[in-house]
Amino acid sequence: MPNRYATARSRMIREQLLPRGIGDQGTLAAMEEVPRHLFVEDALQGQAYGDFSLPIGLGQTISQPYIVALMTQGLGLKPADRVLEIGTGCGYQAAVLSRLCAKVYTVERLKPLMMKARQLFDRLHYLNLVCKLDDGTLGWPANAPYDAIMVTAAGPAVPEALLSQLAEGGRLAMPIGGRQEQELVLIRKENGQYLKSTLEQVRFVPLIGAQGWSE
Ligand code: SAH
Repeated sequence: MPNRYATARSRMIREQLLPRGIGDQGTLAAMEEVPRHLFVEDALQGQAYGDFSLPIGLGQTISQPYIVALMTQGLGLKPADRVLEIGTGCGYQAAVLSRLCAKVYTVERLKPLMMKARQLFDRLHYLNLVCKLDDGTLGWPANAPYDAIMVTAAGPAVPEALLSQLAEGGRLAMPIGGRQEQELVLIRKENGQYLKSTLEQVRFVPLIGAQGWSE
């Protein structure tokens, strides 16, 4: 008998993801697997599979399921890929990515969020995730280049440091624009060129750091 959260997860996929064109089997399977309700505080668990973002403390948010799916699918991950995520937050997006690739490196600037996410990764035995407390606008040079990079906070432009840490053939997804509203852009590095496409209008919390917004 599936528990009520497993049922809510299946419904989320059926009602929010499939009708909006999320067709990538890997993305759908990962979101069917990862227990999103554990990434929000107890009082919000009943709403975890709703069609909206939710607060995760310190003024930050976990993205709406559809946006997580859209960004994940956009990266076109392969099992051997190594992925960098900027903005760990509660760790949900990183957990979804970790089901689809070899290793996820995730950077968060707020210590309490990083600590909580790390504990949850351990509890769920998601072992191919490593976290770092730092300004992610500078990337994580020690493990570069990455096959894919996802930024889950919005900046005025893609940080140069991140572009330089993207492998040839690599993909990067990030919300770009103003503090209030942004476009979700997908960039592919091919023959040293950066090819850009736009996926959706979005609202993300700001990317704060040396190559992002100031506080
Ligand atoms: N992927 C997250 C989304 C969290 S919201 C999730 O699934 O929950 C975006 C996060 O980006 C916030 O936690 C915020 O603190 C973080 N952030 C903002 N600027 C950052 C920076 N320069 N480096 C690392 N993290 C940053």
